[in-house]
Amino acid sequence: MTRRLRTLVTGGAGFIGAHLCRRLLGDGRHVICVDNFSSGARRHIEPLLERDDFDFIEHDVCTPLTLDVDEIYNLACPASPVQYQKEPVQTIRTNVLGMINMLDLAHRCGAKILQASTSEVYGDPLVHPQTEDYWGNVNPIGPRACYDEGKRSAETLCFDYRRQFGVRIKVARIFNTYGPMMRPNDGRVVPAFILQALAGEDITIFGDGRQTRAFCFVSDMVDGLVRLMATPDEVTGPINLGNPVEHTIEALARRIIGLVGSDSNLTLSPAPVDDPRQRLPDISRARAVLSWSPHVDLDAGLAQTIAYFRE
Ligand code: NAD
Ligand code: UDP
Repeated sequence: MTRRLRTLVTGGAGFIGAHLCRRLLGDGRHVICVDNFSSGARRHIEPLLERDDFDFIEHDVCTPLTLDVDEIYNLACPASPVQYQKEPVQTIRTNVLGMINMLDLAHRCGAKILQASTSEVYGDPLVHPQTEDYWGNVNPIGPRACYDEGKRSAETLCFDYRRQFGVRIKVARIFNTYGPMMRPNDGRVVPAFILQALAGEDITIFGDGRQTRAFCFVSDMVDGLVRLMATPDEVTGPINLGNPVEHTIEALARRIIGLVGSDSNLTLSPAPVDDPRQRLPDISRARAVLSWSPHVDLDAGLAQTIAYFRE
């Protein structure tokens, strides 16, 4: 009998991680989920705990971990600006020490490791749409730097572990992703607007609402991550994963109001420091290398997300 592949998912009790754990179990993997519940939730993994092909370890990735695994998806890190700025030092520790610990683990076991990097490595981009060869425009001392520079350092570490030790790495640059199992109060724009619309409250737009983002539904994102992990060893990335359709934040608010059937009004409040003005992935590389592009359009994805939050 062939042995099941053992896959570690750090941050597996978070939003994307919880969907990824389910997908990997469906693909026949033995999944080991590691999380410290700093921005994740026990309820996301509770239904999986009774399975014998699922293990959970409550652990902070800033402390080394000894396990025997074949693949590592390193997702541990808060993703919402509100969450990652609450404890900026812990955010950068997670990105640097956590990354070193997971790369050391991959090196010891000969495992492949996929790093969940981010479009934030492009900062407030001067190139639009963003291609992987753009080096970015990041403020190294601003309030977002714990995350942006942390993720940039994590990418550096991946490539240095590959150059120095031959570790098999994959770097995905994830653009804004949304869907069921986002935490209602985590501050990101999609849950914030849906909850305000459902409550009939004003929708709080930061800035003038003309800043743009591109929103990828979580099932498409998980599929991109799994495809990247399955590529031959010479494919390292970085590879942009995101939905290549750009929306202003005001248009997103109006769309959510329409889908909810709410009579909420829009209110403007000051933009957060260093809030990027525009964000759009060029996914040519993902299309060519992974044969991947998103399938779920914004209305369909928002409808599923609204149904989740209604419950
Ligand atoms: P999330 O906050 O829902 O999940 C992150 C998970 O990591 C949480 O369960 C949290 O408890 C856990 N965690 C944080 N620090 C940890 C630590 N030190 N040790 C162990 N566990 C820790 O965020 P998400 O949206 O699911 O994002 C997952 C990953 O994808 C993150 O690395 C994030 O940076 C990246 N990403 C997400 C998006 C997005 O739009 N969702 C965009 C770009 C990149
Ligand atoms: N945003 C907003 N109202 C909110 C939350 C966010 O207008 O209640 C804006 C935010 O300023 C940013 C965009 O929505 O321009 C996306 O914010 P989010 O925190 O979801 O993601 P990120 O800035 O990391 O892309």
